[in-house]
Amino acid sequence: MQTTGTLPVVVIGAGPQGLAAAAHLTERGVPVIVLEAGAAAATAVREWGHVRLFSEWSELVDAAAARLLEPTGWTAPTRGFPTGAQWISGYLAPLADALGEGIRYGARVVGVSRRGRDRLVDAGRAEQPFTVHVEHANGEEERLDARAVIDATGTWASPNPAGADGLPALGERAVSELLDYRIPDYRHRTRYEGTHNVVVGSGHSAVTAVIALGRIARRDSSTRVTWVLRRGAVGNTFGGGAADELPARGRLGITAREFVDAGLIELFTGFRVERIDRDGERVVFTSEDGRRLAPADHVAVLTGFRPDLSFLSELRLELDPTLQAPVRIAAEIDPNIHSCGSVAATGVRDLAQPEPDFYLVGAKSYGRAPTFLAMTGYEQVRSVVAELAGDHEAAARKELALPDTGVCGGAGLFDSTGTAIGGSCCALPEKPVIQIGRAPANA
Ligand SMILES: Cc1cc2nc3c(=O)[nH]c(=O)nc-3n(C[C@H](O)[C@H](O)[C@H](O)COP(=O)(O)OP(=O)(O)OC[C@H]3O[C@@H](n4cnc5c(N)ncnc54)[C@H](O)[C@@H]3O)c2cc1C
Repeated sequence: MQTTGTLPVVVIGAGPQGLAAAAHLTERGVPVIVLEAGAAAATAVREWGHVRLFSEWSELVDAAAARLLEPTGWTAPTRGFPTGAQWISGYLAPLADALGEGIRYGARVVGVSRRGRDRLVDAGRAEQPFTVHVEHANGEEERLDARAVIDATGTWASPNPAGADGLPALGERAVSELLDYRIPDYRHRTRYEGTHNVVVGSGHSAVTAVIALGRIARRDSSTRVTWVLRRGAVGNTFGGGAADELPARGRLGITAREFVDAGLIELFTGFRVERIDRDGERVVFTSEDGRRLAPADHVAVLTGFRPDLSFLSELRLELDPTLQAPVRIAAEIDPNIHSCGSVAATGVRDLAQPEPDFYLVGAKSYGRAPTFLAMTGYEQVRSVVAELAGDHEAAARKELALPDTGVCGGAGLFDSTGTAIGGSCCALPEKPVIQIGRAPANA
């Protein structure tokens, strides 16, 4: 039997963050196995491959991954904003190829524990390796021992429902085949022309969707677009506008506001979805206060995502009760708290758990908060891997300053009016900079 120190680090998930973690481990000579549920790398990104990112190429490539790729003849794309599909073809797929047999596909992790110790047992716990329960696509099961586990499984698999209270609305389950829980591919415009389209949600995905639909409605006046917000006022739904340090992200909100002002999109605030009824092949939304929308032909429920914690139940985790994120991460990003758009980079210190050598990284480390950026995760995995490799000085270093969202004044999860599109409240002394202000899941 191997001693714990010689066992590999298991990385769960071969998305952008799991691949970056594997690149850092490989660079530091630490044995690594990546377990990916899908048949290929970046399975989640592939599903939103038609969406254009608001980040430029330079913000989407991890430094250690680039160093691993350069000897293969790969050159870093430098200009422009890729789609998800281009992110894969230009970077993520070549990276997965370079990592080679270190990645096992069709390998879904269904449980993580300490070998011979359930969550209850203290004795010798930290000295025991992790045991990772894997279900393979061919139905076979396996247990792998690991000296450390990095969970980079994202949140894509667990979308929030339309119901305002986080539970599926009455009737929602029964009509779920008529609802999209991911951004539809609106490039198939004839499918949407001349129909009534409803978008539920207020995050970047919802804004991206209403813009795509607004463009269809601009060309075809028979297309109807309804945008449903749970919050009682628009608040910071339109983001930081010109004040956003990621200009393409800021532009999203500006365009959405222009479309609303031009009457291309009908906006309903304070519409807390209570029930969804079928009307033939269409659905009808009713809010808690009794308002009913016209029957919708197409519905996109873009209310955010939540982390799947089910396979971690035998580990000792300290998660924030609101965001379901590591507590020190949550303190940075809780959108309930008044916002001034800035958020600090996070590293191993913020990610450490009562369960030594287990880390949640990437999109999952933000729990239900919708503000995760790829560059945030790359800094996390750099720091975590440095710690695992014994380089405590590098682990403690912060090598990233995150761009400000430009969102000021009142995160306003609910009925706050807040300030959107480049308000100047960040300068006001009575509103200290605390946390990032994008609306959370389902707001
Ligand atoms: C539409 C959209 C647009 C975005 N635009 C931007 C942008 O412009 N800029 C930016 O910085 N970020 C953007 N993001 C955020 C983006 O999600 C992250 O940057 C990144 O994709 C998250 O990477 P991840 O590796 O943490 O998670 P994911 O990409 O979700 O990858 C997780 C991987 O884990 C696998 N997995 C899940 N469960 C298991 C399991 N139990 N066992 C094994 N494998 C499992 C999945 O199949 C998947 O391959 C966007 C996100 C979305 C959804």
